[in-house]
Amino acid sequence: MKYYSTNKIAPSATLAEAVINGLAGDKGLYMPERITRLPNSFFNEIDTLSFQDIACTVANAFFGEDVDKDVLDHIVRDTLAFDCPVVPISSNIYSLELFHGPTLAFKDVGARFMARLLRHFTNAGKEGPVNVLVATSGDTGSAVANGFLGVDGIHVYVLYPKGKVSKIQESQFTTLGKNITAIEVDGVFDDCQALVKSAFMDKELNAHAHLTSANSINVARFLPQAFYYFNAYARMKALGKADNIVICVPSGNFGNITAGLFAREMGLPIKRFIAANNKNDVFFKYLKTGEYSPQPSVQTIANAMDVGNPSNFARILDLYHGDHDTIASIISGATFSDGQIREAIRTCYTDHGYILDPHGACGYRALAEGLKDGETGVFLETAHPAKFKETVENVIGTELKLPQRLADFMKGEKQTVQMSNKFDDFKTFLLGE
Ligand SMILES: *Cc1c(COP(=O)(O)O)cnc(C)c1O
Repeated sequence: MKYYSTNKIAPSATLAEAVINGLAGDKGLYMPERITRLPNSFFNEIDTLSFQDIACTVANAFFGEDVDKDVLDHIVRDTLAFDCPVVPISSNIYSLELFHGPTLAFKDVGARFMARLLRHFTNAGKEGPVNVLVATSGDTGSAVANGFLGVDGIHVYVLYPKGKVSKIQESQFTTLGKNITAIEVDGVFDDCQALVKSAFMDKELNAHAHLTSANSINVARFLPQAFYYFNAYARMKALGKADNIVICVPSGNFGNITAGLFAREMGLPIKRFIAANNKNDVFFKYLKTGEYSPQPSVQTIANAMDVGNPSNFARILDLYHGDHDTIASIISGATFSDGQIREAIRTCYTDHGYILDPHGACGYRALAEGLKDGETGVFLETAHPAKFKETVENVIGTELKLPQRLADFMKGEKQTVQMSNKFDDFKTFLLGE
């Protein structure tokens, strides 16, 4: 299958090229030229299939033309070494828990899949060493660093905004060593993202070293996220709750929700989506007005969604041929202040005894306010609440136990490289590596 650029200037790429390059030469994002619809028979029996079996079928629809079935199945099963269960919160609201992976956030799924696929392609093509650059506002860095840790022939550089991620998040990518280098940037997340994008466009750097991206712009990271939307539907169908499903996705860079939209295009019967935002609400405003105007990001307690210019907006536009009416009929928006997010954590805990993280809290609240009669809502609980320990404890007044794998990260020693937000400094550093 070929992958085209959303900017439509760069030539189409093979899957291997799209995965290795990350971003297209014209700065566009790669899109598969076809989206395979899965047969009715698959949806009829989906509730009898395991998460891993469902994921193998979905992966085959995306990548089956380009990767041998045994290799692909192995990558999928190895990626999904943990479950993504659906848990009831109230009579019509369910939580799709995506925090059972190694770094306790949904990005583990895409990062683990991408690491394995990239290793496959670089071995198969006997490519030289590959440098993965990743900008993070918190959870991407840890998922990518852990997904790639110890993978031969690949070095990962994690760029993060100094002082703007939680201690727990920071420990998950600054203490690993080996093939992982953490870079502490004097700036905000958008500066980190801009540095990474500029690096990919710089001829001299690209001649010096093979660079690739592991942000949600990479097709190998964002497409596998479709797996758990199918699983959510399957588990809801087993409960007899599969009619009129609304899926609510706490969104920042919009990679996660875009994977859900792809699932829907493949035939998954999702009635509609809600994109839940914190105060970084350019998409919400786009839905209301039809105008997209990127803003500098503002800091919130749901910091993995502090994104002022979501990269994957280009993919959503492309998927629906730029048609605002179609987009607004499939996706509705919600936006919450830090106060409203705290209130959602508090009410969900007192009413249902369920502890939300600040991102999932946006998802829960959007459903609690936005579900219509006859609809059943599933929100994506994108991280474990203990990753945002202080914030959550302050709200619910109860101590949260740190899961063992989080506590282990905190014991490591922080190692970082300090960096300004100027591209020249970053370039000089990379040229010296
Ligand atoms: C990354 C992240 C998000 C936002 O996901 P996007 O794919 O960027 O929209 C939401 N919640 C958590 C916990 C995250 O780490």
